[in-house]
Amino acid sequence: MGAKIQGAGRKRFIAGNWKMNLDRSSALALASTLRERCGNRTDLDVAVFPPFVYVSEVAHALAGSSIRVGGQNCCDQASGAFTGEVSAGMLADVGATMVILGHSERRHVYGETDELVHRKVRAALTAGLDVILCVGETLAERQAAATEKVISRQLQRGLEDVSAAEFSKITIAYEPVWAIGTGQNATPEQASQAHGYLRGVITSRYDDRVAARVRIQYGGSVKPANVQTLLSAPEVDGCLVGGASIQAESFLPLLIS
Ligand code: PEP
Repeated sequence: MGAKIQGAGRKRFIAGNWKMNLDRSSALALASTLRERCGNRTDLDVAVFPPFVYVSEVAHALAGSSIRVGGQNCCDQASGAFTGEVSAGMLADVGATMVILGHSERRHVYGETDELVHRKVRAALTAGLDVILCVGETLAERQAAATEKVISRQLQRGLEDVSAAEFSKITIAYEPVWAIGTGQNATPEQASQAHGYLRGVITSRYDDRVAARVRIQYGGSVKPANVQTLLSAPEVDGCLVGGASIQAESFLPLLIS
């Protein structure tokens, strides 16, 4: 199998955000199936993001395979009296190499601001983690023609003071809020337009070379039935997948050539 290399040699990247789903045994069973079926893929990057309490064991189960493991969130602080929080360093300590930050459920359910997301980006980079930084507009913002303004602000504030060298550790996920968990995915045209816009913002912020290198995933109701069209859209370098990532039968078909 050979997934297409995206524009400018960007390797496709498919990530599964398990959210607050699965129990210990089903998480480990899924990790084991993924390892068996796609643990040697070098033509595309695959990562899974289990709930915090399973990160260590899932990382252990996938150690030595090509599948990476990350946290779904982390604290903006390194250590201390922050009851209930998990630091980026702790994630790294148990085998995570990545973290998702700025997910819409964190922004909209738990009230995370761009400033907090930025502090978390900084904490993750300091701990040596790669970051998937999520941006995306609500339905009301899209209807008010504010999509570009919103995703540009989330991107710029989230990346404030992140150098070009540090930016090489970042993947962007464009996840329109109205498409997450709703069954209503963005059209390939809507995704391409937003991704192209984000790449333009990155060009202005850094330069063409940096912008050409960064991978921009699409997220929002990706499933086997729509993945092919979404992945063939210009500028779509992979997917961040929620619901379809918690079962091998729906996740494996997303790892297409
Ligand atoms: C997500 O949680 O990042 C996501 C895209 O969810 P879903 O695929 O279920 O829409």
